[in-house]
Amino acid sequence: IERTIETATKRYPLLLGDGAARELPSLLRSLACPPGTKLFIITDDTVAPLYLDEVRATLAAAEYDVYAYVIPSGEAAKSFDNYYACQTAAIKCGLDRRSVIVALGGGVVGDLAGFVAATYMRGIRYIQMPTTLLAHDSAVGGKVAINHPLGKNMIGAFHQPEAVVYDTAFLRTLPEREIRSGFAEVIKHALIRDRRFYEWLRAEIKTLADLHGDKLAYCIEKGIDIKASVVREDEKETGVRAHLNFGHTLGHALESELGYGTLTHGEAVAIGMLFAVFVSERFYGRSFAEHRLADWFSGYGFPVSLPAAVQTSRLLEKMKSDKKAYAGTVRMVLLCEIGDVEVAELEDDKLLAWLNEFARRGE
Ligand code: NAD
Ligand code: ZN
Repeated sequence: IERTIETATKRYPLLLGDGAARELPSLLRSLACPPGTKLFIITDDTVAPLYLDEVRATLAAAEYDVYAYVIPSGEAAKSFDNYYACQTAAIKCGLDRRSVIVALGGGVVGDLAGFVAATYMRGIRYIQMPTTLLAHDSAVGGKVAINHPLGKNMIGAFHQPEAVVYDTAFLRTLPEREIRSGFAEVIKHALIRDRRFYEWLRAEIKTLADLHGDKLAYCIEKGIDIKASVVREDEKETGVRAHLNFGHTLGHALESELGYGTLTHGEAVAIGMLFAVFVSERFYGRSFAEHRLADWFSGYGFPVSLPAAVQTSRLLEKMKSDKKAYAGTVRMVLLCEIGDVEVAELEDDKLLAWLNEFARRGE
């Protein structure tokens, strides 16, 4: 499958399918990267033993000059220290302005490697090679970032890749918890933009075991198409792109408050989406049967309530430093109806009361 991702500043190809990685050399040549170009693969220590040799061999056989740098796996690796280590390795390998970084991994590698590419010598080209279900989201759209202990994705850039090469064969080794994590972003895409897709998910994906073969491929394609259509409209998040943050205001607060990697990104976003629906019901005075959404989520094994260890007042503080907030006022993406969302401003005291009520619900 081939798609063209279009933003205000760039058009680039996305190749999707079993064996897509083998198309890498011909793709590179079409992008004006002749053999001999230095390619710097950034990957993590889970993905490296599985796929690095294969990707390196494909590129070396096409006479590219291939280097690799391996970071630890997990959310905690999206750090300033690893960013700096990648820059050091890039300089030592002698990467120049014509070199290309290859991000081989999930959203952590993609976000970090993309930010390295955005800033090395004021910006060089890079290619996204997603290896997780979640990365159907993160590899498209050009948002790249690292975390700060005080907040998720606080340091970053908009830097579009030259191409996305999504070899779905790589997903076969993905553990169940990571499939679940990526599925949260699939659900997000349905909830914010596509009621029919939401209904299809409810009917066809009864458990995570249904996420394979054609159904998995359909989820990836739909997710990419929705993401791409939002990014086409609004590359730099001055408007509708904020809708993609549905579930992320609380989700990001949870990730940084609990310590990066305690929950997967998708688990945090799942709780965040349920809270966004809970707030929407109160804000608009209508019911989305949040408890039934929670039952649906828990059928996939998502956590559906706030972890007991977390203090709601601290979550509120984190939510106030979210990138959507202005002048300390929290702005959350709320559900108007399934398939339609909007951004709303929320007062602190109301939000805290709702956080407390959300924490106690179902007791
Ligand atoms: P990840 O990159 O940490 O991958 C999850 C785990 O799976 C890791 O342990 C990794 O080593 C392992 N893994 C990766 N591919 C594998 C494979 N094929 N087989 C076996 N194991 C494999 O996390 P993720 O869930 O892919 O991405 C989460 C990150 O993406 C978060 O930091 C989130 O903020 C970011 N994100 C960014 C955007 C964006 O627009 N830039 C969008 C959504 C999410
Ligand atoms: Zn996300």
